[in-house]
Amino acid sequence: MTERAYLDWNASALLRPQARAAVLEALDCVGNPSSVHAEGRKVRQLIERARGQIAALVAADAANVTFTCGATEANALALSPGWARKPGQTAPDRLLVSAVEHPSVLAGGGFGRDRVATIPVDRQGVVDLDALRTLLAGQPALVSVMLANNETGIIQPVSEVAQIVHEAGGQLHVDAVQAPGRIAIDFNALDADLLTLSSHKIGGPKGAGALVRKDGLHLANPLIRGGGQERGLRAGTEDVAAIAGFGAAAAAILDAKSTETDHVGRLRERLESGLLAATPNAIIFGASAGRLPNTTSFTHPGLRAETAVIGFDLAGVAVSSGSACSSGKVQPSHVLGAMGVDPLLARGAIRVSIGYSTKDEDIERFLSAWTKLSESLLKGRTVIAA
Ligand code: PMP
Repeated sequence: MTERAYLDWNASALLRPQARAAVLEALDCVGNPSSVHAEGRKVRQLIERARGQIAALVAADAANVTFTCGATEANALALSPGWARKPGQTAPDRLLVSAVEHPSVLAGGGFGRDRVATIPVDRQGVVDLDALRTLLAGQPALVSVMLANNETGIIQPVSEVAQIVHEAGGQLHVDAVQAPGRIAIDFNALDADLLTLSSHKIGGPKGAGALVRKDGLHLANPLIRGGGQERGLRAGTEDVAAIAGFGAAAAAILDAKSTETDHVGRLRERLESGLLAATPNAIIFGASAGRLPNTTSFTHPGLRAETAVIGFDLAGVAVSSGSACSSGKVQPSHVLGAMGVDPLLARGAIRVSIGYSTKDEDIERFLSAWTKLSESLLKGRTVIAA
């Protein structure tokens, strides 16, 4: 058996060998991508190759890809008031966000608190389309609904959301950070106006992200202004190595086609059936909703996530409680709260997420750790009816 089982891929994925090679190649190149000399042109080429690879991953146009330092920044750029179809056209002045968004979207970008409203989700974690229609009331708004949730893996009906938003004259931003390699993404079929991606969630290095936009969509006042890089949408000398690695990771996903999806799906099935066989009262959140094939969010009546995560860690298994961004703070997950999960149950939520290089033995290590942990952690605890 391997030393440890890393089962926290939604927090950060393992660096792909192709990404590592691209990072090293870029690190050895001198030159500023904005310089006109040969050295500058060489690193510019690395950025443009990556731009093409990111565009191909989501079947978008490379000219509409803007690199940022990560998905948090891409989300902040997407949620800037002022995105318009044509220069001078009035842009939506209010923002609607689903209740299960990542904190970087819930923060509301450049919109004032009083200009942001929340779209509720149902008990399966899926956005309530009627509530969305009511909130829009035929008036344009910028709407942000993620493609798949980082904590539960639950997939949103994005193209239906897009239709509703567009009928009201609004625009749709989609945080698709958790989707690549797990489900196919077609930017045009989703009919999103803006779409966010992150390098380290797909096997690229940390420190790069991208915002993909629909043709013609234009922002008068970008977040970071200065040297005019990234077609004026994101000033600052590009992190060429991170961007090159991001692009190589995207290309590797496309090369693998659907094999990664099948691989993680088979392992997740093994994990969930083993979990329920060991502890039949375990609850898998969103089990009957469409979910990413690599994510399991579960609990057991009486379980405390903080203690369980430490127990797993000591047993050589890396999992997380709720989302990694909020771990360290003992707060029930806002995602499970929005789904109406009892706060006592939500306190015990554990997220297990797997990836392209996860092995059967990693799942076995998890299951044997859970069998032992559940015996000790649940002993003597009042079991609440599930
Ligand atoms: N959106 C989602 C859905 C995420 O899971 C994350 C990372 N936890 C982010 C945005 C932020 O990504 P980054 O780490 O690249 O800033």
